[in-house]
Amino acid sequence: MNDEKHVSSPSGSVSIQPPSQSTNSSAAPGAGAAQHGKYEFFKVIQGYLDEAARVVEISDYVRTILSQPKNEIIVNFPVKMDNGTVRLFKGYRIQHNNVLGPYKGGLRFHESVSLDDLKALAAMMTWKCALMNLPYGGGKGGIKFDPNGVSQDELQRITRRFIHALGSNIGPETDIPAPDMGTNAKTMAWAMDTYMNMAGQVAKQAVKGVVTGKPIASGGTLGRDKATGQGVVHCITEWAEDRGFELGGSTMTVQGFGNVGSNTAVILSKLGVSTIAVGDHTGYLYNPEGFNPHKLQDYVKRNRSIAGYPSGKPISREEFFRIKADIFAPSALENQVGAEEASALQVKLVAEGANGPCTPEGEKVLLERGIDILPDVLANSGGVTVSYYEWVQNKRSEQWSLEEVDEKLERAMKRAYREVVDMARDKKCSMRLAAYAVAINRIGQVYAEREIFP
Ligand code: NAD
Repeated sequence: MNDEKHVSSPSGSVSIQPPSQSTNSSAAPGAGAAQHGKYEFFKVIQGYLDEAARVVEISDYVRTILSQPKNEIIVNFPVKMDNGTVRLFKGYRIQHNNVLGPYKGGLRFHESVSLDDLKALAAMMTWKCALMNLPYGGGKGGIKFDPNGVSQDELQRITRRFIHALGSNIGPETDIPAPDMGTNAKTMAWAMDTYMNMAGQVAKQAVKGVVTGKPIASGGTLGRDKATGQGVVHCITEWAEDRGFELGGSTMTVQGFGNVGSNTAVILSKLGVSTIAVGDHTGYLYNPEGFNPHKLQDYVKRNRSIAGYPSGKPISREEFFRIKADIFAPSALENQVGAEEASALQVKLVAEGANGPCTPEGEKVLLERGIDILPDVLANSGGVTVSYYEWVQNKRSEQWSLEEVDEKLERAMKRAYREVVDMARDKKCSMRLAAYAVAINRIGQVYAEREIFP
């Protein structure tokens, strides 16, 4: 049933530097949740699947299929660096499941990228697409390197060689990458251009949909840039309504001030929510008066981090997790809120902009302390939803207005939120398990109808 595919690109005969062997994300400010031993993200996701499969009682063979990705593609490819040396990079594309449609999911450029973590993230894309009722399966890919450590020209060559190495493993009807950590609209423009040039003259114009999250002029959609943050905010406003919580005048802290974190802070500021502490891979800042999220967002776009931002007092990671606020939006990496951080947090809500920021131990502590969690599979699914809108516009050669995109996204997020809340109430389970349950129920139904080939 599950065919595994390993692809390697030829590395040529030049003298090359091997890919970095380090497995850890980074030093002090970027450390993961306080814990002992290696964090096994994929095992955690498999554990949630097993629990959710008991909640909705899907067939055991479907759970077994979903417990592993369909394809694990690994490519090693050489890139000429600015100083004339050639460096070998290791890239991955995990294709988890395509029973609902083509694989869909981001490309991550980060020094912590690993096969197992991408397997976890690809599986989560399967659940997200199913939860959001999108005609997609789940995929995820990336390259293990620090994008801040190379020039823009090098970044472009790395991206293009990676897309070339993936070759026909991706495509608008096969597997559609998008931005994730360390990549953005510009990366997608290079990816699309490379793929178009590989497709040949006849097919060239028909393959724009090979990636989403492109710049508007290159076939992107209005509203994609802020879509994930916008989706997080829709979930927060629904939660606030359910809880009778007044967002105006409330406070939040944000870990990760990239695409997801900064857009969440900017959009929430329009609802009167003040961001009083922020953090990224360079450190943490506190400003009890509240940051101007627009200015901080512009600063990060120009400087690639919050380091050196003039307003705000530098604090440690431990101090950041102890700050009293109403909402915490982890929007960086997985494995950030373990039992220790969960015990320290003084908030009412954790809204998971990032994928997998809370460990199972962290989640247990938060729930015991009565802190609500909007789980990643629901909360950050606005990104893939608007990616789908972009793909449809590419197919139809249309450009929708921002209002149209925003309205569709709002409806989609609110419907998914209600489905998850209803499932959690009916099955007396956590929001996370409920989100998984809604998703795998939908997938299980399709397997039951189509059965197994041959
Ligand atoms: P990004 O690259 O734009 O921003 C990432 C942020 O995380 C940066 O501020 C970076 O400094 C910070 N960061 C990196 N390593 C860190 C560390 N060790 N400690 C603290 N901060 C660190 O990425 P993004 O697109 O905003 O993605 C953030 C998260 O959201 C990821 O988990 C990603 O999978 C998830 N996500 C993104 C999208 C999307 O549309 N971009 C959609 C769904 C989920």
